[in-house]
Amino acid sequence: MKALLRGAQVITMTPGRPDWERVDVLVEGTRIADVGRDLDGGDAEVLDLSGRVVMPGLVNAHLHTWQTGLRTVGVDWTLSRYLTLAHGTLAGYYRPEDMRIASLAGALSQLNSGVTTVGDWCHNTPTPEHSDAAIEGFLRSGIRTVFLHGRRYSLPEPHPVTEIDRLLARSHELLTVGMAIPGPQLSPADVAVADFRAAAERGIVVSMHQSGGDPQPAWDVVREARLFGPLTNIVHGAGLTDSWTRTLVDAGVSFTTTAENELGQGHGAPITARLLPIGAAPSLGTDTDAVVPGDLLVSARVALAQQRGLDHDHHRQAHGVFSHEPTVTAMQALRWATVEGARALGLADDVGRLEPGMRADLIAVDARALNLWPAHDPVAAALHAGVGDIESVMVAGRWRKRDHTLVDVEVERVKEELADSAGHIVAALGATRS
Ligand SMILES: [Zn+2]
Repeated sequence: MKALLRGAQVITMTPGRPDWERVDVLVEGTRIADVGRDLDGGDAEVLDLSGRVVMPGLVNAHLHTWQTGLRTVGVDWTLSRYLTLAHGTLAGYYRPEDMRIASLAGALSQLNSGVTTVGDWCHNTPTPEHSDAAIEGFLRSGIRTVFLHGRRYSLPEPHPVTEIDRLLARSHELLTVGMAIPGPQLSPADVAVADFRAAAERGIVVSMHQSGGDPQPAWDVVREARLFGPLTNIVHGAGLTDSWTRTLVDAGVSFTTTAENELGQGHGAPITARLLPIGAAPSLGTDTDAVVPGDLLVSARVALAQQRGLDHDHHRQAHGVFSHEPTVTAMQALRWATVEGARALGLADDVGRLEPGMRADLIAVDARALNLWPAHDPVAAALHAGVGDIESVMVAGRWRKRDHTLVDVEVERVKEELADSAGHIVAALGATRS
């Protein structure tokens, strides 16, 4: 694979470079070989991408992809209904085959919407076969996956590290393994410490949900043991105090907001408002397709709008009028969806920026589309893009979507298999919508 992308407006996400610029991108093998003006690609295939915006592939840092077949059933679910129905009822009906097809269909859907890396928070793995089947689905799709192995809620015993080690042996270019744990908020201190320690010993990402109320005392025990750092990822973070947020940020911990879902389900206010004032930033996720559509750019726009709304309110309270200056920019929201997602998943040196040596994970947005034209500002065009505007998607130097069409997959067959699988699961609700 050798390709020279010419003519596009390119958002590299590289610190010190302009937000966007007219440069060429040269891809060789699985990596970006060069970014610059008038590159000589030698025998590379040359693509004219005039009118498109090329940027790093999006990173969906938090998705329970196994729930893809539950789409639309939870559109009005609060958090308690979600926990009771998705986890308390439906999760138990999943066979390994259901995990495979949900992961495949979910991953294809993510690719279609411009996501090249997914942080799959997989907490429906009662047997190793369930995990293997989910991974098989991801690998078939061609998306880059950080498979965060979790368990059903919430066993009061440490994570099964033999299973983590078994999965780690499967790691390769498109598959990284990490741990999805209950964490100090949802497990006893000794369990939380054991789980953090297991992840630290293996140098892998450890991720946990944190929402609903004040931080539990187990957090103090984990802090005293100095067990959190850059490979620690906290999802939501609602309820954390300013002091705890600063402690975690200072240690390099990453945060993921799933703003569209958090606001609707009752998780609490997105962590964005606590992070930005101390110079940190969130990564983004879409959480569950059962409740909200898995569109990361929508998540980015919701997170941005929600934060701007808060800032204007604060300004109004202090000065009697909304803020005359923008407090958060579109470019920041795009960074949350790329650079910050890569950092949250332990891939900061691999994806999220278009630079020589980075993995060739990128997307082309068709800024000539009726809903984006005339796109005076490429950054805004990228942020405002709908799924239909994602023209092409490349992962590790391979096109996964070209000219608005997914490559190397029979989408209709995948849809049929997903419907068959989901039918027997959703039927357990006793009231499928037909
Ligand atoms: Zn979640």
